[in-house]
Amino acid sequence: MPFASLGLVDDLARAVAARGYTTPTPIQSQAIPAILAGRDLLAAAQTGTGKTAAFTLPLLQRLQTRPETRMPAGRPRALVLAPTRELAAQVADSVRVYGRHVAPRTALVVGGVSMKPQCDALRRGVDILVATPGRLLDHLSQKTVSLAGVEILVLDEADRMLDLGFLPAIRRLLALLPRRRQTLLFSATFADPIRQLAGDFLHEPAVIDVAPRNAPADLVEQQVHPVEQTDKAALLGRLLSAGERDATLVFTRTKHGADRLSRQLEREGIRTAALHGNKSQSARTRALDDFKQGRIQVLVATDIAARGLDIVQLPRVVNYELPHVPEDYVHRIGRTGRAGRAGLAISLVSADEMPRLHAIQRLLGRKLPSSVVEGFEPSPAKRTRAPVAAPSAGARHHHAHRAAGASTGERPAAHRPARPETTAHDASRRRNKAHHQTRRVATTGDRA
Ligand code: AMP
Repeated sequence: MPFASLGLVDDLARAVAARGYTTPTPIQSQAIPAILAGRDLLAAAQTGTGKTAAFTLPLLQRLQTRPETRMPAGRPRALVLAPTRELAAQVADSVRVYGRHVAPRTALVVGGVSMKPQCDALRRGVDILVATPGRLLDHLSQKTVSLAGVEILVLDEADRMLDLGFLPAIRRLLALLPRRRQTLLFSATFADPIRQLAGDFLHEPAVIDVAPRNAPADLVEQQVHPVEQTDKAALLGRLLSAGERDATLVFTRTKHGADRLSRQLEREGIRTAALHGNKSQSARTRALDDFKQGRIQVLVATDIAARGLDIVQLPRVVNYELPHVPEDYVHRIGRTGRAGRAGLAISLVSADEMPRLHAIQRLLGRKLPSSVVEGFEPSPAKRTRAPVAAPSAGARHHHAHRAAGASTGERPAAHRPARPETTAHDASRRRNKAHHQTRRVATTGDRA
C-alpha cells in the first residue's frame, strides 16, 4: 500500500484506506517521511493539495510511537494553529478521521462559541489541540491550558494568519512553547514575512514546494464575463439556474454585499445562504452543512469566511466581485477542481474592475478567456476589450458577440431573459470564432 510505504503504521494506513485514498498526493509523499523523521518543515501548499493529511497522519504517528507521556489536564502534546474557525474545525475532523484507530484526545478551541465546553474538554485532558490564535490566548490568560508540554506545533495556512493580523498573537504563543519541539509551517506562498517567521522559529527545516506558487490548481476552467455592475445579480441568477444547477460558491468582497446578494438570489428562487464573519457559529455551521448536503445550491461568502472551507467536489466558483488582492483570486478558484476533479471558475467583471482583472492576469502570466453573455452586454462606452471566447457551461447557449453592431446600447432589461434565438449573422460569427476554441484552459505556473 503506497501510504504504508511512506512509513505509516498500519492503524493509520487503514484509516486512510477507509477514507478511499489509495495514492498519496505530492505533498503527502514528501512531507510524511520528513515529519516522521522528526524534522521541522516549511511547506508551500495550498488548500486542495491534501496538506491536512500530510501533517495530521505523521503527527498522529509521532504521538503514538513515542513513549506514552500521559500529560496532565490542559497540557496538549501537539498544537495546530489555524486562521479560521472553519479551517480549525476541518483539521480537528481530519484528526478524528485519520486517528480513528489510535484514538487521540482532541480538542477544538475557536472563537465565536462558549468557552465552557472548551474548558471542560481541556480539563479532561488533550493530546492534540486545534485552535485559532485569539481564542487560545483567551484560554492561556484564564490558565485553562498550558503549552509547556507541546512537542509538535503546526502552523496551518500561516500566510493567511499573517494576512488576518495574527502575527503578534503567533509570536506571543510561540514564546510560551518549549524550545525543543518539532515545528511544521504550511503556507500557500513563501512571501517574505513567512520566510522571516520560518527563519525565527524553524530549525533546519525540510523545505517542500509542491504546487506552483501563485498558479491555480490544474483542471480549473476559468472564464470572465464582462458585465455592468448593475446587471451582475441578474446574470448570476441566469448562470445559476442554467444547466445542471451545480453547487456554487459565490464570492463577494463585503459581508453586507454577501447578505444582499443572498437575499436577492433567494427571491429568484435559488436556495442560498451567506457565510461570513458576522454570522454566529451555529448559523455558519448550518449553512455549510446545508450546502454540503445539497439543501442549498449557493453559498455566498467573503474571502475570509471561505478560506479553508473543505467542500469536496465543488463544481463551480463565481467571483461576483474580483478581489483587491490578486492572490485571493488564486485562493478563491482553488475551491473548485480539487483532488483531480474538473471545476469551473467564473468571474463577473464590471468596467471599474478591469485594473483588478489585469493585475490577476499579470499574476497568472496570461489572459483569461472572456465572453460577453447575450443580454448582458456592457454598454459600448464601458465596453472592455475582451476577446470572444467559448461560453462557460452556464452561458453555453448565450454566445458572445462583441463586434460593432452586435451591441447597440439597447440592452434588454437585466431581468428579462435573453433572446433564445440568434440571427444567422450571429450564428456564423460563432462558428467562425468559437469553433476551435476549447473550454479547457491549461494553467501555467508563475514561479517568478
Ligand atoms: P486539503 O488540501 O487538506 O484541504 O485536502 C483537499 C482534499 O483532498 C480534501 O477533501 C481531502 O479529503 C482530499 N484528499 C487528501 N488526501 C487525498 C489523497 N491522497 N487522495 C485523494 N484525496 C485526498
